[in-house]
Amino acid sequence: MNEEQGVPQSGNRIAIVGAGPIGLEAAMFAKQRGFDVTVLEQGRVAENIRSWGHVRLFSPFSMNSSPWGRAALTEAKIEAGRDSRALPPEDALLTGLEFAEQYLLPLSRHPEIADTIRQNTRVIAIGRASRWKSDLGGASRQESPFRLLVRTGQNEETIECDFVLDCSGTYSSHNHLGAGGIPCPGETASAKRIAWTLPDVTGCDRDEYSGNRTLVVGSGYSAATTVAGLAELASDVPATSVVWLTRTDRPQPMETIADDSLTGRAALTSLSNQLATEQEGAVDWKPCSLIQSVESSQQGGFVVSIESKGKCENIEADRIVANVGYRPDRSIYEELQIHECYATQGPIKLAAVLLGETSADCLAQTCPGAETLTSPEPGFFILGAKSYGRSSQFLLRIGIDQIEAVFSLIPAP
Ligand SMILES: Cc1cc2nc3c(=O)[nH]c(=O)nc-3n(C[C@H](O)[C@H](O)[C@H](O)COP(=O)(O)OP(=O)(O)OC[C@H]3O[C@@H](n4cnc5c(N)ncnc54)[C@H](O)[C@@H]3O)c2cc1C
Repeated sequence: MNEEQGVPQSGNRIAIVGAGPIGLEAAMFAKQRGFDVTVLEQGRVAENIRSWGHVRLFSPFSMNSSPWGRAALTEAKIEAGRDSRALPPEDALLTGLEFAEQYLLPLSRHPEIADTIRQNTRVIAIGRASRWKSDLGGASRQESPFRLLVRTGQNEETIECDFVLDCSGTYSSHNHLGAGGIPCPGETASAKRIAWTLPDVTGCDRDEYSGNRTLVVGSGYSAATTVAGLAELASDVPATSVVWLTRTDRPQPMETIADDSLTGRAALTSLSNQLATEQEGAVDWKPCSLIQSVESSQQGGFVVSIESKGKCENIEADRIVANVGYRPDRSIYEELQIHECYATQGPIKLAAVLLGETSADCLAQTCPGAETLTSPEPGFFILGAKSYGRSSQFLLRIGIDQIEAVFSLIPAP
């Protein structure tokens, strides 16, 4: 272990930001190795996954959970005199809510980590106790512990630790609708009325979308999920309709992965492409669309102005679902020395490897090794979905590998 690797020589206090799947798995891994762990979660355990709880994961349970997490829960059941059937089968394709209820929440209640998790506690800022961002020299930085400002309700306090694992995801910070990725005129004023996540259009949010015209923006799996859900709703309530805006000129909105082994992903791609290109369906797909402005209409909906291949058009809609991707909240570590990628805003070493990958299939990826998780800030690591910055290619399987990689750099206490 040396200074170039950006890791302090000693210390056993680890703060983990976020109790999503990667934060929880990291907490269990660290506790089993004797570290003093504190998990800081701004909401509830698995907050983000619960918010898209109606969506079915593409990857099977065995890929979404760690061997040490599964073993800990199995052993806990055995100690309690019960069998371990409560764990889902390895090949189960769970919804987000099932994954949370059948694995993440039991993991968070495991006696090893239950007391380490502080819910409703938001990390506001991370610095060093006696080093400023502008102080150069890795060796001297690691002599000073991390200092975190955290907020619980109205109460603010500071916490000190030797290592920080930022597992806070990206789901809380969305990209913009406007052309070029900047907000278009009217977007900021309308932002609170736009859905930026994945509404449950056939479930608890059904009434909001039923019989209405919804503008869906985006060309990823989230947009495809929303479009497929709205088309299902339209088959039940025919007055429901969808305008789907994507910005590329591909012949179909979704890129097809040849021989996709994730059957759920392949089925969603096929269904959404079919919905977009069939003549008489509920979905009106408009490729090459660049959003110029968003205004509120007199009827309480929106008028969205788009430009497509030099032509302008106004579209009226009752609802907007903007599935335009997410970005890391870098404000919490802006007083640290983190070298970021100018394109993805992920940490540069990992981003450089990811930008070199050409496959459209995120399953083809592997964790590129511990060194790619280091930054100029010794002892600070970004793991999980946030480590990919704006890229949506992250898989839980990679995050689990990242945990093992990072702990190969941190000396056990
Ligand atoms: C709809 C959808 C489907 C997906 N399907 C799959 C799939 O099938 N397979 C797969 O491998 N991946 C999938 N992913 C990608 C990825 O695995 C998930 O996004 C996963 O939730 C990432 O886990 P995470 O722990 O990195 O972050 P998150 O689950 O986002 O957890 C981050 C946690 O940090 C908390 N937090 C954020 N900021 C702060 C702060 N300042 N202070 C304290 N706490 C904070 C949040 O409240 C949250 O609980 C999917 C993603 C989405 C959105």
